[in-house]
Amino acid sequence: LEGIKKIYQIGTQEVAALNGINLNIKKGEFAALMGPSGSGKSTLMNILGCLDRPTVGSYKLDGKEVAHLSDDDLAKTRNKKIGFVFQNFNLLSRISALDNVALPLVYAGIGRKERMERAYHYLKAVGLDTRADHQPNELSGGQRQRVAIARALVNDPSIIMADEPTGNLDTKSTKEIMNIFIDLHEQGKTIILVTHEPEIATCASRQLLVRDGVITRDAGKGEKMDVV
Ligand code: ATP
Ligand code: MG
Repeated sequence: LEGIKKIYQIGTQEVAALNGINLNIKKGEFAALMGPSGSGKSTLMNILGCLDRPTVGSYKLDGKEVAHLSDDDLAKTRNKKIGFVFQNFNLLSRISALDNVALPLVYAGIGRKERMERAYHYLKAVGLDTRADHQPNELSGGQRQRVAIARALVNDPSIIMADEPTGNLDTKSTKEIMNIFIDLHEQGKTIILVTHEPEIATCASRQLLVRDGVITRDAGKGEKMDVV
């Protein structure tokens, strides 16, 4: 990212959410984004994840400028390269865990048999193969988040983006979910994770502090970083 600014326009009012971000995240890095509420973490994630475009600046993803792509091209880039995990899991409630995981493959136009095989493989990878037929409301929060991670992985993206993935989870489930991210990092995935908790950020290989729409600290693994 070079000189990234994001200004939201609401009626006649302008909100400057990002005020000039310069950032180079390398392939295979595990970066934790921290910072106070409203500092711009989700806005930054949305731009990194090709869910949104910056108002100003350059974003090169795998060497290709993506800051000003059309909606269609942005979606294509996103579907090919990036998997998402959210705080609220964002699962469809009326379909099974397996069908939730398989959903991105429907959009990718892959046939049913292969969809089910691949979805099952990733459910198994997160330890939920025995729960394939269960609907989300029959699963615990931690299990739901594991389903969401399997869904994020099913297209085999090189980048995983997670916005407060443990925000709704208890301590035990948080540990399980973080262990999955640590494994994925070891397998070579690039991970960008937003968290409020310094303890969780220490799992990452790099910790970035966002404040008022700029990055104010860029620290390595294990360095303690206070958000306030
Ligand atoms: P939190 O920790 O509470 O999730 P955050 O660091 O993720 O906060 P953002 O959601 O990126 O913060 O918001 C940054 C600023 O941009 C805030 O002032 C917010 O009100 C504003 N903002 C975010 N999304 C929008 C939007 N869609 N339209 C207008 N303003 C927005
Ligand atoms: Mg946020």
